[in-house]
Amino acid sequence: MVDSRAGYSDAITDAGMEDPMTFFARVDKDRCISSGKCVGDRPSHFRFDDSELAEAIPLVEIENPADFYAVVRNCPGDAISIVDDDGNEIAIH
Ligand code: SF4
Repeated sequence: MVDSRAGYSDAITDAGMEDPMTFFARVDKDRCISSGKCVGDRPSHFRFDDSELAEAIPLVEIENPADFYAVVRNCPGDAISIVDDDGNEIAIH
């Protein structure tokens, strides 16, 4: 016997299990002036590359974007943004 509710149930389950949006930091190295502010404030998310320019540590998620905006605002080079998992910038600066 075929359960006619199976498809409906699967659709609900799929919708309910949709991945929540994740956010990541991004650094525009052309704008970074190597102040070290982000690396000092958020060593869990930023590091220096071999040229002493900041970069976001890959795959480290931002758990609270609203709280993270302080890091974006405090960058003297206006180099940091927050992006979603599709790479779309969500922080306007
Ligand atoms: S705070 Fe901005 S300018 Fe300073 S190191 Fe980080 S990205 Fe570069």
